[in-house]
Amino acid sequence: VTAGPRVSDVLIVGAGHAGTQVVAALRSSGHPGSVTVLSDEETLPYERPPLSKGYLTAAQTAEEIAFRPADWWSGAADLHLGRRVCAVDPVARTVETADGARFGYRALVWAAGGRARALPVSAAELPGVHTVRTLADATALRADLLPGTRLVVVGGGYIGLETAAAAVGLGLSVTVVETADRLLARVTGESVSRFYDTLHTDAGVTVLTGRRVVGLRGEQRVSAVELEDGTRLPADVVVVGVGLVPATEVLERAGARVDGGVLVDAQCRTDLPSVFAIGDCTRRSHPHAGPVPARIESVANATEQAKIVAAVLTERATPAPSVPWFWSHQYDVMLRTVGVRHPADVEVVRGDPASGRFTVCYLRNGVLVALDCVDRPADFAQGKALVARGARVSPESLADPAVSLKQAADISETAA
Ligand SMILES: Cc1cc2nc3c(=O)[nH]c(=O)nc-3n(C[C@H](O)[C@H](O)[C@H](O)COP(=O)(O)OP(=O)(O)OC[C@H]3O[C@@H](n4cnc5c(N)ncnc54)[C@H](O)[C@@H]3O)c2cc1C
Repeated sequence: VTAGPRVSDVLIVGAGHAGTQVVAALRSSGHPGSVTVLSDEETLPYERPPLSKGYLTAAQTAEEIAFRPADWWSGAADLHLGRRVCAVDPVARTVETADGARFGYRALVWAAGGRARALPVSAAELPGVHTVRTLADATALRADLLPGTRLVVVGGGYIGLETAAAAVGLGLSVTVVETADRLLARVTGESVSRFYDTLHTDAGVTVLTGRRVVGLRGEQRVSAVELEDGTRLPADVVVVGVGLVPATEVLERAGARVDGGVLVDAQCRTDLPSVFAIGDCTRRSHPHAGPVPARIESVANATEQAKIVAAVLTERATPAPSVPWFWSHQYDVMLRTVGVRHPADVEVVRGDPASGRFTVCYLRNGVLVALDCVDRPADFAQGKALVARGARVSPESLADPAVSLKQAADISETAA
């Protein structure tokens, strides 16, 4: 008789924000069972947001961005680094890693995040071309960010823009190329896009919107970026920030339902027995994200789903879904976003964007559904509470930055 694989009560795949938070939540709730974590990365689990911010500028070290020290891990879970899960057998309740090891589970938590989307053009693999998803990626990029060199950032989303801000501060000459007609078009409204365009342009970044990259050029190393209109931008370094491909293939092969993310219910269950999925790789119905299931990429979402799974596994009441939120730090400007905006929402601007402190409120049928708060922390805190309770607020009272959002809601509700 051959012994089967060792069976853990909880087996977690991925030790990013979501996976690590499950371990922390299980331990703080006194979960008595065995917890095993399989990570395909070689380093102790770490925070991802600094990779395009303080870690790139060397303001933060790898030690400083680790979630927990090694001795915390040894007391909390059986953590295996450098183990990539390549198959899940939902009947035998086992997973297999690329090095041929097998691990059994009573409950499996798939917290595998995703990988940076590659640019679908020729020569995208040349040295000097980077993405920013892992610590290894950011370490390699950091070594290439030399003063006086030319960086082209492909993609004007948050990661691309944060990288541009870091690089310009390090003395590089930076160009951002974005296909849409404005920066951050997928995630925010026009006022915020305009603000970031000006912020970067004033800092010395060349911002090219409505322009498509069709190729990369170079022999031993990247030397230029080619645009559809024939422009050739000389480049010593290229950063590709064009989104995330969620890590769903392994679960899909195992039979889970996948549609732009692993589909999960309010308890983070997939449709495979005892298999949960959380974080960037999932899509779920969310009361604050509109009528169709959403894939929400944020630390707050990963943490929330981790707490839900830990509650389910320890048979406690699950926390109610909270309003999604996200932050982005560029130069010395802090943006905090609340809720999920849709393109058809009505935009109301509070304060003067030229002052560098303003909030954009998004209304859907008179209800405040989302906000972008640029260096207005009180608007963030109050706005989050108002979005949570579905407050109806008039555009006139929202627009006055001297009236707090809470007062604006009180005024509107009294008048109604
Ligand atoms: C550069 C950058 C900046 C960001 N800035 C912000 C920010 O300012 N604010 C914010 O809210 N969010 C930010 N985010 C997003 C945030 O980091 C993610 O939403 C969060 O990390 C999601 O957590 P996760 O655990 O789902 O995925 P991840 O943190 O990606 O963790 C998944 C882990 O699983 C591993 N893995 C994948 N497949 C396998 C496998 N088959 N076997 C074993 N292991 C596997 C991966 O290597 C990874 O370590 C940023 C992301 C990046 C990349």
